[in-house]
Amino acid sequence: MLWFRRDLRLADHAALHTAAGQAVKGPFTDSEAVKGPFTASGRSGKRVLALYVLDGRLLKPAGAPRTAFLLDSLRELDAALSGRLLVRRGDPVREVVAAAKEIGASAVHVTADLAPYGRKRDVAVAKALAEHGIEWVVTGSPYAVTPGRVTKPDGDPYRVFTPFHRAWTRHGWPRPADTSVSIVDWVPPEKSLAIPKSPALGETRLPPAGEQAALGAWHAFLEDGVADYAAERDRPDHEGTTRMSAYLRWGAIHPRTMLADLAGVASEGAQSLRGELCWREFHADVLWHRPETARKNYDRRFDRISYDTGPEAEEAFGHWCAGRTGFPIVDAGMRQLLAEGWMHNRVRMVVASFLVKDLHLPWWWGARHFMRHLVDGDLASNQLNWQWVAGSGTDAAPYFRIFNPTTQGQKFDPQGDYVRRYVPELRGVAGKSVHALKERPERYPAPMVEHAQERQVALQRYGSITS
Ligand code: FAD
Repeated sequence: MLWFRRDLRLADHAALHTAAGQAVKGPFTDSEAVKGPFTASGRSGKRVLALYVLDGRLLKPAGAPRTAFLLDSLRELDAALSGRLLVRRGDPVREVVAAAKEIGASAVHVTADLAPYGRKRDVAVAKALAEHGIEWVVTGSPYAVTPGRVTKPDGDPYRVFTPFHRAWTRHGWPRPADTSVSIVDWVPPEKSLAIPKSPALGETRLPPAGEQAALGAWHAFLEDGVADYAAERDRPDHEGTTRMSAYLRWGAIHPRTMLADLAGVASEGAQSLRGELCWREFHADVLWHRPETARKNYDRRFDRISYDTGPEAEEAFGHWCAGRTGFPIVDAGMRQLLAEGWMHNRVRMVVASFLVKDLHLPWWWGARHFMRHLVDGDLASNQLNWQWVAGSGTDAAPYFRIFNPTTQGQKFDPQGDYVRRYVPELRGVAGKSVHALKERPERYPAPMVEHAQERQVALQRYGSITS
C-alpha cells in the first residue's frame, strides 16, 4: 500500500518505486532512507493500493485556499490513477491500519514527512502497523537531500546558509526515479469517500493544481524564464519567478526533478534558482534539528524582546491583514495574498519587516496569518523565513536591517505597476509616485505609523536584548 501525503504525483516518486518492488537496488534504498525508527527494506508485492487520509489536524489550520488546492491536487491524482485513489477521513493511525488490513497489505510505503506533526504521527502509525505485523517502509523525502543528512564535519547541524549550501551541493542527490504508472498494478479501492468539494474562495484565484499543471508550469519556465531569473526574481511587478512553491509544497513535482533539469542549463539564472531551492532545504534541515522553532525563537535571546499585544496591537494587526496600512507596497502585498493565496518573495520580506519592526507585533502573529492564506504555506519555510526577517532565526538578517517600505517599493516596483494591480484606490496615481503619495485618494488610508520613528523604537527594543 502507498500512503500519499506531501507527494501527490506519480513521476520521480521514490516511495512508489519501492512499493512497486522496483527499488531494491535503486538509487534510494540506502542513501535516502530516513534515519530514525524506520527501516527501508524495499520488500513489497507489486499490487499497490493508493491511499490518502484527510486528517483534520492538518486541514484545520490550512485555510480555504490551501485546502482547495489540496483537494484539487487529490482530484488530479485520482484522475491520473484512473479513479483508484482510496480516500478516507479521520485519525491516520486508525485509517491507515484499517485500510492496510482490509486488503491484507504486507507493507505501507511512504515518503518521509519531516515536519514536527508528521514525525510524531508517523511514529504512532508505524507502531500501530507493527502490532498487526505490517511493515512500515520510508523511501525518500520531499527534499533533494533529506533533512539531517548534511552536517558539519563534527556532526553538528549548520546554522548559516552559505556553508550549508556548499555542503548540500557537495552531498548531491540521486537521479530522478523512473516511476511511470505502468510499473504498478493499482488495487481498485473499496469504501472510498468522494473527494470533498473545495471550499468557496470568494475572490481568491488559484493556479491549476496537480502534477501535469506543475510539470507544464515548470517546463514553460525552463523555456522562457530561467535565463532571466537572477535579474528578475526581485521584481514583483514582473512574472519573474517560477511560481512552483505550491506544487513543491504538495509534492506535485519533486525538487530533484527540477535540479536535474537545471543541471543542463548553464546560466546565472539556473545557479540562482538552485540557491533558492537550497533555502527550502536549509529551512527544512533547521526544523528537523530544532522542531520547537516552529513556535519558538531559534535565538532564545529574542524571548526577552518586548512586542506589542493587547487591543490596540490587535487593531493594528487587522489593518495589516486587510492591506490597509497606508503603505502602498505593504498593502499591495497583503492584498495579493488575499487575492491569490501567494505573495512575491520580496514583498513577503517587506510586509514581514513592517509587521515586526514598524508595528512591533510578534512575528508569529504574521506567520499564522500567512499559514492561513498561503497556498504554499509550509511550516519550515514560513516560520523560519519569518524568524529570519524578525532577526531571531538562523542566519538572521542583522537586526538593524529594517526595510524602508517606501524605498523598497521605489526600488523593486519602479513604475508602481505592482501597487496599482492590487490596490484599486491607487490606480489613478501615475508612475512611481504611487510609492510616496503627495495626495491620498479619499478611500486610501493615511500611513498608520511614521516609519523613521518606529525604526528607532525597533532599534531600541533590539538593543535592549543584544547589549
Ligand atoms: P522562486 O523564486 O521561483 O523560487 C523557487 C523555489 O525555491 C520556491 O518555489 C521555493 O520552494 C524555494 N524558495 C525560494 N525562496 C525561498 C526562501 N526564501 N525560503 C525557502 N524556500 C524558498 N515559501 C514557501 O514555500 N512556503 C512558505 O510558507 C513561505 N513563507 C514565507 C514567509 C516569509 C516571511 C518569507 C520572507 C518567505 C516565505 N517563503 C515561503 C519563501 C518564498 O517567499 C517563496 O518560496 C517564494 O516566494 C515562492 O514563489 P516562487 O515559487 O515563484 O519562488
